[in-house]
Amino acid sequence: MNLFVIMKRTFDTEEKIVIEKGRVADESAEFIINPYDEYAVEEAVQLKEQHGGEVTVVTIGDEEAEKELRTALAMGADKAVLMNTEEDLDDGDAYTTAKILAEFFKDKEVDLILAGNVAIDEGSGQVGPRLAAFLDIPAITTITNLEIDGTQALIERDVEGDIEKVEAALPVLVTAQQGLNEPRYPSLPGIMKAKKKPLDELELDDLDLEEEEVEAKTKTVDVFLPPEKQVGRVLEGELGAQVNELVSLLQKEAKVI
Ligand SMILES: Cc1cc2nc3c(=O)[nH]c(=O)nc-3n(C[C@H](O)[C@H](O)[C@H](O)COP(=O)(O)OP(=O)(O)OC[C@H]3O[C@@H](n4cnc5c(N)ncnc54)[C@H](O)[C@@H]3O)c2cc1C
Repeated sequence: MNLFVIMKRTFDTEEKIVIEKGRVADESAEFIINPYDEYAVEEAVQLKEQHGGEVTVVTIGDEEAEKELRTALAMGADKAVLMNTEEDLDDGDAYTTAKILAEFFKDKEVDLILAGNVAIDEGSGQVGPRLAAFLDIPAITTITNLEIDGTQALIERDVEGDIEKVEAALPVLVTAQQGLNEPRYPSLPGIMKAKKKPLDELELDDLDLEEEEVEAKTKTVDVFLPPEKQVGRVLEGELGAQVNELVSLLQKEAKVI
């Protein structure tokens, strides 16, 4: 099987968010593979173990993303591709990302593309479905179970706590939901092997893409943190007096009644 995983390097969820000059400052942040993409990598590796084939992990990012690609290779992926946009583009959105990926996949033989359900940093959940639309293949989101039977994908997906069963003919793009599997930790031999596995680096030029073709369709107008939570107030005294005070506060201070 030709298995592909699209993955994003994101900052760690434990990081404190700092906003500088209208952007999230991530210079000193710790970076990881987007957690939903780890499920996607694990699923692809398990499918390869069951059915044979090859797993290629693909990311759009800068030089630094090589670290996360090597981690995916250490988990069992066979090849990695870094589409380095650092030189060509300063800005981009979900359209940019999906368009570049679509151009990469245009001449590839694909059985399955696995993505994360959502990236934990920007969280639009758009890249997978947009890519499938560009490639004109089915997109099945938030999957929690996947079996391949010949050329059919038998899928269970999470629909707000319920399970929906879906079948689709390959090639298909799926997005991974928590619970799909338990991603493995890279083993020491895996880490050693990963150093020698192929990691190709491409630029927009290699994909015959012009900057204008991938220009963002959206513009971020403002980025801000939610207001700090106010300390709560505990009312004391007789129950009746508390109720009167509460009503008065709701009318005069909170102005909600
Ligand atoms: C050239 C370029 C410049 C950018 N410049 C800026 C910027 O200036 N400011 C800013 O805030 N953001 C920038 N971005 C980030 C961009 O806005 C988001 O990465 C994009 O909108 C994806 O949306 P998301 O992160 O919400 O992903 P989601 O749609 O939530 O991600 C879902 C899944 O899609 C896949 N995916 C997402 N991103 C990638 C990726 N990069 N490579 C491979 N697979 C991926 C993963 O499987 C992920 O789990 C830039 C991106 C690119 C490509």
